[in-house]
Amino acid sequence: MKILVVGSGGREHALCWSIAKSPLCEKLYCAPGNAGISEVAECLPIKAEDLDAIIDFVSKSAIDFVVVGPEAQLVDGLVDRLEEINVPAFGPSAAAAEMEGSKGFMKDFCAKYNIPTANYQRFTDLPSAKKYLDEQGAPIVIKTDGLAAGKGVTVAMTLSEAHTAVEEALSGRAFGAAGAEVVIEEFMQGEEASFFVLTDGENYLPLASAQDHKRVGEGDTGPNTGGMGAYSPAPVLTPELEQQVLDRCIKPTIDGMKAEGHPYKGVLFAGLMLTDTGPRLIEYNVRFGDPECQALCLRLKSDLLPALLASAKGGIDKITLDWHDETALLVVMAAKGYPASYEKNTVIKGVDDANQDPAVTVFHAGTTTGNDGSLQAIGGRVLGVTALGTDIKEAQEKAYQAVDKITWPEGFCRRDIGWRELAR
Ligand code: ATP
Repeated sequence: MKILVVGSGGREHALCWSIAKSPLCEKLYCAPGNAGISEVAECLPIKAEDLDAIIDFVSKSAIDFVVVGPEAQLVDGLVDRLEEINVPAFGPSAAAAEMEGSKGFMKDFCAKYNIPTANYQRFTDLPSAKKYLDEQGAPIVIKTDGLAAGKGVTVAMTLSEAHTAVEEALSGRAFGAAGAEVVIEEFMQGEEASFFVLTDGENYLPLASAQDHKRVGEGDTGPNTGGMGAYSPAPVLTPELEQQVLDRCIKPTIDGMKAEGHPYKGVLFAGLMLTDTGPRLIEYNVRFGDPECQALCLRLKSDLLPALLASAKGGIDKITLDWHDETALLVVMAAKGYPASYEKNTVIKGVDDANQDPAVTVFHAGTTTGNDGSLQAIGGRVLGVTALGTDIKEAQEKAYQAVDKITWPEGFCRRDIGWRELAR
């Protein structure tokens, strides 16, 4: 079959890398892709956000299946538009993608279906929001309702920080329309972990757990990023806790979305806080995590494509997946300056050398091939050096050995990915 993957990050490289290995895949395209993706798929000069151009390409090229990587295009209704032209696609409809697209929707849904999450209230006017903050006290968490590229959340340790956050959001200064409504929620204490399932709207197939590293600096310091590294599985999410997540969060969510008339298809990514009273939901994401997806794909022994197809078309309960017993650990190499401004078109060497170890795969994010054939960095997060090891220690060693084969003076990485698990 002819398949199109939409997106250009490390997540999409991992998805393309997995799909290209499938005997069912005859031809793979990616819009727009990156230098790494171009080794396994034909990259198209179509931006992920150009839905008209994607629909046009899919119709004219008789594409059989589309896999949508990023949340923005799901929230914007790409899967609905593909359905209108009878092309199956992996990912939720726009209505179901509200689970990530609107924090208020997600919180109301969880309240209605009794899914454990932080207590909350929604606000559009400043005086009521401030009054509520004063009643609740700090620490407290303020979230913009809409998508804000991971920057819309303030964990306020003082009331004055909390007041500033609601003022910035509700005035429209900080996030425009995405901040016109805020959710103010209870601060939850605990360790964070992620869990991924595939669902066809009726049934679900558990995938795996992971933990990422959001902060830019070692020891989890500095500003938040898209993610500086990850590993899977996350042993902190024990089989007992995973079962609780499935019973108390995942199943009621899938049943609830069906009951609401918006069956949820695709991957459901639960961001969890492991609290004293059990796992509680921080958020749902409606797509694979980046960088967690790369670690998951490296661990997967089975063909991913039939599972993605079953999620779109039904029959996910008939799929079984085999996983490597090893741990996968990924180190993100980013451009110096990220998550603020950084230089572009700097040259990276040594990626082929790093890929020589059979346990290692370097996934690309913001890369392109220069006119002279050199590999160049054009984004903030640029490479995801991913390794399999018998345990987290070995995976970490192999990943950093591979990192050290890469020469990129304008790049950096955290040297402590996996620290939490290694400290246990
Ligand atoms: P992203 O999708 O990039 O993870 P987001 O903008 O969708 O981020 P959340 O995941 O909801 O936002 O929150 C970001 C981070 O803020 C969480 O990973 C967690 O560390 C912290 N956080 C969010 N809600 C709470 C809460 N109720 N209590 C404590 N910390 C929280």
